[in-house]
Amino acid sequence: MSLAIADPTEIAPSPAALRPDGTPRSYTVRTLGCQMNVHDSERLSGSLEAAGYVAAEDADAADVVVINTCAVRENAAKKLYGSLGTLAGVKRQREGMQIAVGGCLAQKDQGEIVAKAPWVDVVFGTHNMGSLPVLLERARHNAEAQIEILESLEVFPSTLPTKRDSASSGWVSISVGCNNTCTFCIVPSLRGKEKDRRPGDILAEVRALVDDGAIEVTLLGQNVNTYGVEFGDRQAFGKLLRAMGEIEGLERVRFTSPHPAAFTDDVIAAMAETPNAMPQLHMPLQSGSDAVLKAMRRSYRSKRFLGILDAVRARIPHAAITTDIIVGFPGETEEDFQETLRVVEASRFSSAFTFQYSIRPGTPAAEMPDQLPKAVVQERYERLLALQERISHEENLAQIGRTLEVLVAVGEGKKDAATRRLSGRAEDNRLVHFALPEGAEEPRPGDVVTVEVTSAAPHFLIADSAVAATPRYAVRRTRAGDAWDRRQAESCGVPAPAAASGSAPRVVSLGLPALRTR
Ligand code: SF4
Repeated sequence: MSLAIADPTEIAPSPAALRPDGTPRSYTVRTLGCQMNVHDSERLSGSLEAAGYVAAEDADAADVVVINTCAVRENAAKKLYGSLGTLAGVKRQREGMQIAVGGCLAQKDQGEIVAKAPWVDVVFGTHNMGSLPVLLERARHNAEAQIEILESLEVFPSTLPTKRDSASSGWVSISVGCNNTCTFCIVPSLRGKEKDRRPGDILAEVRALVDDGAIEVTLLGQNVNTYGVEFGDRQAFGKLLRAMGEIEGLERVRFTSPHPAAFTDDVIAAMAETPNAMPQLHMPLQSGSDAVLKAMRRSYRSKRFLGILDAVRARIPHAAITTDIIVGFPGETEEDFQETLRVVEASRFSSAFTFQYSIRPGTPAAEMPDQLPKAVVQERYERLLALQERISHEENLAQIGRTLEVLVAVGEGKKDAATRRLSGRAEDNRLVHFALPEGAEEPRPGDVVTVEVTSAAPHFLIADSAVAATPRYAVRRTRAGDAWDRRQAESCGVPAPAAASGSAPRVVSLGLPALRTR
């Protein structure tokens, strides 16, 4: 049964959020792991701020440090206990400091965390993020560590207050948990069976984000395309995508991650026919060997996987497809690995997240015989990486000359200052660095520029068409840029400039005759 949870969760102001002098305590949230965790951290920040805490300007000087952990990635435990070791020294010097550990590893290790690091004040799981302010208060009042782990979800995390990192983009959970049992994965035992949100709740949250200035939304779930399994509608995900297309002001819709076994033609049709569904797909392959897929308990085979990619490209020719691959699963032979290389070559992924298999305690694969020596895994990994680098580069070189719309972002281009460029994401989610015309006003994060790709590397595109002999460059000021202006103004305490995108859009156009406005 779906959780009936349309109402927002109220977080009461907490006395523990105040220092003895009445000023608010500061917090910082450190996130380890996947996009689901990044999204959860926005909820943790939102819940703490609703309780009265303020974000620390200097994360190293925060009164409350929250670590949102991951049990999927390699060395997660090592990283957590390393951080906790450092924090022990800081806590000794700083009176009243509190440390909280949440997320997947907390759900898995529970009391073990406080046993190993007794200076931790709160341990909470993946199903009770909203309890964090209360647990901090209880730990302070009782002067002892509080551990609260719920076995199943009681409140859908999306009902918690949120503090979004980006003005232009938002994450929206459509489901949590997973009904699959991939043998390398700890998620089902930590996040539980799939719970689906009601479509009306999801659409209401997306509309609220759009009203708040977002123009891009990513739908999140462990297995997005099984969405609807709980309420008995196998086509619910395709319908949801189509409903996103009806939301005025929403320009870009993405989702992660689908499962190849449940990826049906109606989802491909919905992607192709919904104008704001972006030409991008993250489709986890994991292995190209049918024998390894069977051992992983992944129910598709390589032929079906490649068939899906063909079907997607037939309907969405410019789709950029990315993937996850695990190298060195127990029992993987050289022939199995050759199969992975074959499927990767045929798939033409624009990029791939490649992982070396390593034992994750608590998963069925950890108990399997024929665990491979590290040296074998490493050598195969390097061969796979070299192949994918070549393909990524070739696919990016094929983009040269294309005209792209790039959503300007903050923090995407580490070398922007040195190269005098700005950065953002194309519609297919490729990272693009672009030059500005001499003397031009900078577009704001959230605005959209139109540029032409002039060169390419394996992991990014360069679009310096603004400074080419025949310049091609235009800016469309968006509501997301206006929202960014408002955030800046709020943080500086000065009034925001008048919205640019509500009235006639202000377009700086050099060489492009017309721009659509949305
Ligand atoms: S589909 Fe498999 S890998 Fe993904 S969350 Fe479920 S069990 Fe884990």
